[in-house]
Amino acid sequence: MIYLDNNATTAMDPAVIDVIAEEMRRGPRNASSLHALGRSAADALDDAIIRIGRSLGADLSQPGGPRLILTSGGTESNNLALAGLAEPETPLVVSSIEHASVLQFAETQRKRGRQVGYIAVKPDGTVDLESLDQCLGQFDKPLVSVMTANNETGIVQPTAAIAERCRRNGATFHVDATQSIGKMEVSIANMSADAVTFTPHKFHGPQGIGGLLLTPGLKLRPALFGGEQQLLSRPGTEPVPLVVGMAKAIELAVDNLSENCQRIVSLRDHFEDALLSGIPGLLIHGRNVSRLPNTSCVSLEGVDRQSILMALDMAQIACSSGSACSSGSSPPSHVLTAMGCPEWAIGSAIRFSVSRFSTATEIDEAAGRICRIYNKLRS
Ligand code: PLP
Repeated sequence: MIYLDNNATTAMDPAVIDVIAEEMRRGPRNASSLHALGRSAADALDDAIIRIGRSLGADLSQPGGPRLILTSGGTESNNLALAGLAEPETPLVVSSIEHASVLQFAETQRKRGRQVGYIAVKPDGTVDLESLDQCLGQFDKPLVSVMTANNETGIVQPTAAIAERCRRNGATFHVDATQSIGKMEVSIANMSADAVTFTPHKFHGPQGIGGLLLTPGLKLRPALFGGEQQLLSRPGTEPVPLVVGMAKAIELAVDNLSENCQRIVSLRDHFEDALLSGIPGLLIHGRNVSRLPNTSCVSLEGVDRQSILMALDMAQIACSSGSACSSGSSPPSHVLTAMGCPEWAIGSAIRFSVSRFSTATEIDEAAGRICRIYNKLRS
């Protein structure tokens, strides 16, 4: 199988598997236990958390400094942030191209009577700052949530400009950086965000773990109860092997970031050039704006996305349509719809996403197969 669905999840780096296995072999270790095994687990946990913070430009070693809440993944981090970073009556403002874990949370809240504003996006796929200004003018000190880069198109969002507007208006700013680590620089300080979501299964780390990084002093109301772990913010026994794996994965993702990105972008560009020469009328979304180096969202005129997805699967190419994680159901893309794309482009959109483990041979082979399949379906 040629795997071009890395925005959904990635292969674990063998070095990450090794540190997780090593940690698991150390025996039963609960970081809350007071005996020696427990204390050594707590040390491993502290060390991993500090290293994760270092990779995100946050010093997590000091009480009173920034804090990392360990979660089960991006969905939980986003839900916890939206549910707990502000009072229940605080208005919510989210962009219309957010992941379902943000949009569906917001919609549920709206139905329960909370004030919710949706920021429009421009046809180029970036959030419309004028629309954000309108929301900030309409609502008093809202909780704002916008992603660093979109999971379907890879289009990078103007988080620094959004942060600046939020600061001026006294709004709290949560950033969903799930798709960005290992693909662009992510630093809590540079983004001026109050809280940042991430999960390592998007950057060659384990599934089932994620993080919500909080700036100093920011309070998170818990959604779960029952233990004293993580200062009561998110109780439950910490999965030490997964946290250690997350630390290794983030270090590998951040080390050599620019070299990895250059290699990935050249693979992606080569792939797109090959598709452009073999598929008449191919539309590449976000080609003229800043995009994640690994993502290629294309529309193939005259074919239906489900048909081509199935044909590609049979041809041993893994890619997706619709959103990164739930492409099993594949409704028409809410992202392309929000961008005002024509119906044919929404109906035929497929997303390919490469990773640092993709090879030039795979890319050539995949592009050849895709062009052949497209032309067969067309005829
Ligand atoms: N946010 C974005 C931007 C995503 O792309 C995803 C998954 O693709 C998530 C959140 C949810 O992450 P998880 O699958 O780890 O819950």
